[in-house]
Amino acid sequence: MNDHYEIIIVGAGLSGLAVAHFLADQQSLPLILESGTRSGGVIRSFNEGGYLAEWGPHGFLDNNSASRQLLTATGLAREAIKAPLANNVRFVCNQGRLVPLPQSPLGLLRTPLLSLKGKLRLAVEPCKKPLADGHSIGQWAEHRFGPEVLPLVDTAVTGTFAGDYQRLSIDVVMPGVRRLEKEYGSLLRGLWRERRRKKQAQPATEQNAGKSREKEPEQPAAGGRLPAMTSFPQGMEYLVSRLSREQNIRYQSGVESIRPLAEGGWEVTGRGGVRQAEHLILALPVNQALRLLSAFTPPIATIPEARIATVALGFRREDAAVPAGFGYLAPEREGRFTLGALFSSQMFPARAPAGHLLLEALVGGRRHPERLELDDDAMVANIYQDLRRLLPLKAPPVFVRVLRGAGGIPQLEADHANLLCWRQTLARQHPQLHLTGFGWDGIGINEMIQAAQRVADQIMQGQSNTERAAVRPVYF
Ligand SMILES: Cc1cc2nc3c(=O)[nH]c(=O)nc-3n(C[C@H](O)[C@H](O)[C@H](O)COP(=O)(O)OP(=O)(O)OC[C@H]3O[C@@H](n4cnc5c(N)ncnc54)[C@H](O)[C@@H]3O)c2cc1C
Repeated sequence: MNDHYEIIIVGAGLSGLAVAHFLADQQSLPLILESGTRSGGVIRSFNEGGYLAEWGPHGFLDNNSASRQLLTATGLAREAIKAPLANNVRFVCNQGRLVPLPQSPLGLLRTPLLSLKGKLRLAVEPCKKPLADGHSIGQWAEHRFGPEVLPLVDTAVTGTFAGDYQRLSIDVVMPGVRRLEKEYGSLLRGLWRERRRKKQAQPATEQNAGKSREKEPEQPAAGGRLPAMTSFPQGMEYLVSRLSREQNIRYQSGVESIRPLAEGGWEVTGRGGVRQAEHLILALPVNQALRLLSAFTPPIATIPEARIATVALGFRREDAAVPAGFGYLAPEREGRFTLGALFSSQMFPARAPAGHLLLEALVGGRRHPERLELDDDAMVANIYQDLRRLLPLKAPPVFVRVLRGAGGIPQLEADHANLLCWRQTLARQHPQLHLTGFGWDGIGINEMIQAAQRVADQIMQGQSNTERAAVRPVYF
């Protein structure tokens, strides 16, 4: 078989589906080649016995313009359910107790998580010189805000990357933060000045609204309010199953090799034969893309990934007095078995049968892959022991399922900056090859959708990627 297409997308995860959505203005549907038997990649919901849990993501924040456009255009915005962060406390495990995470500058001043000295140290940030490139998030945070913030930073990094804040690269994970720090000499000063600039520019932006596709990567929620966590009554899998509708997806069609054609365009070979396309989009997690790109001499063959297991635990309501809120996370120094737990049935309605609660505990991560080697019974016993020391649980769970996801979370560590430079060079040499997906431009759903929109724009309008790095909101 030798077929020719305008656009081939490899991977029917969220990234591939989102690119296909944003390419909807093209004359012909892109062909999507998927190695598995279903679309959605790591996004997969679990529904059994009245419990609705997730193998992968639990939601995403509603403060990203590309995601908003996608939800509105598909009608998904009407079906989404939202849990505003402003109404839902998140807890951090601190010295064996759950303490609410501060959600505002005033909350930060009042929190018992920092001493008076620690709080005063935050105010010194504008006097600290910008750090040179090549540091970890932990090194950077300590330099700018002092050592007391490290457990909080650990909490945020655990809640997003299941990662190690002493290994993740600040330059790659938070390029927008680094840009502000370098441009204004201080992050706080930069945030304040940019906020003021945006306020002054607002009337002009409003006049232009509707004339072109909105380009602002992330937007603070209106009036500075906290954003909301978004999902669907059927779980997150609904998002990808809806995006798959009316797309041209070939399942069990894994791509095994790719090569540029002398006359322009690309050839892909794999299960299902040989196909050619003018534009080839690899919408794959970094490691899976690197496997297809070994002939282009990437600086590294693989990047580290953090795997986690989600353990769904159903309790009778009278047995579990769970505090009101989204859940908690535990920094490494607390020495807990569980990374944290979501109070899922409090976050979104109808996640547990009547009279019951659903908690989802997270295990493993970059620092504890060995815990994933435990069998289900041992893992659940450890989790229950751990949770009992934090929450007033009178009896063991009446429902338990261990969900071991297939994919790991890419870790953007020290070598990642080199990898991104290599990708830029590759893009210049091969403008009809596009790399997007899990771990290239971040790891969150909003980042995947934003990157997908950028790729679609590049193909449709021949634009190059010249956006300034923006400050990414954290979704944990
Ligand atoms: C456990 C976990 C929890 C998460 N929690 C959150 C969260 O709460 N909020 C949030 O915003 N984000 C979260 N994320 C991140 C979010 O899920 C990802 O950003 C997003 O789903 C990545 O989508 P993708 O399409 O890039 O990759 P994937 O989902 O990995 O999809 C890639 C697809 O490509 C296919 N494929 C691979 N190789 C080939 C090949 N050679 N040929 C053809 N097809 C191929 C795969 O089968 C797969 O379907 C989480 C991720 C994980 C793993």
